[in-house]
Amino acid sequence: MIKGYGLHTGVFSEVRFHLDEGPVRFRRAKVEIEAHVSNVISTERCTVLGKSGETLAVVEHLLAALHVRGWWKNLVIEVSDKEIPILDGSAQGWLEPLADLGKAPEFPKAFNLTKPFELTIEQSSLKANPGHAQLKVEIAFDHPMIGEQIWSGEPASYHEVLDARTFGFLHELEYLREKGLASHASLENAIVFDEKGALQALRYANEPVRHKAVDALGDLYLLGKPLCASLNIVRGSHHLHIAFVRELLKQFGTIHETA
Ligand SMILES: [Zn+2]
Repeated sequence: MIKGYGLHTGVFSEVRFHLDEGPVRFRRAKVEIEAHVSNVISTERCTVLGKSGETLAVVEHLLAALHVRGWWKNLVIEVSDKEIPILDGSAQGWLEPLADLGKAPEFPKAFNLTKPFELTIEQSSLKANPGHAQLKVEIAFDHPMIGEQIWSGEPASYHEVLDARTFGFLHELEYLREKGLASHASLENAIVFDEKGALQALRYANEPVRHKAVDALGDLYLLGKPLCASLNIVRGSHHLHIAFVRELLKQFGTIHETA
């Protein structure tokens, strides 16, 4: 069992994993919410799932860990309150409990992209091209310690980003708290940048872009199967990732599967 505080709502919740036939789904109270894009109800600052009056926020880091572990079915994730614990702000805390479950079920067939696809929302864009699965993430922040950063990798190297922590800016904190977000943000669970630098030591010089890759892997997991495509995400956001997965299912409704 893993427990801890949620970053945004501040609730303390406990998470238990149960092996069970069927899709990967969360259980909140008596409601089961499948880890699927059709259940996304908000993408403001984090990805929130909801069904039948129950909601679950900040699912993306746990889903990124499942993505990297290649775990796509036969799992119930029971959560005692409305937000997944933020832990240290990264996805690495989920690896051990997932490893304790044993071998992941057989890898599902991938969603094979058959033609180029592009989505742009304001400053952010996502380009997908047919080909081997790979991910390239780019960010640009007008901040002396961030600037322009790029991370790219293939499924075999996706695990390298899992310990990259979420980040935020000191000057945004008040605004977020007014909106009822980031109520439990602290130096224990997020990298905080002030005007000059970070308030704590970074794990990697490009930790922010690595964390963006974590968020992308978590959101892309909501496609329900691995995506076989070459992706380039520039200034990504949960909103962009989820819009992409929705469009993908809409435009390529007939799923082209590949072994
Ligand atoms: Zn994140």
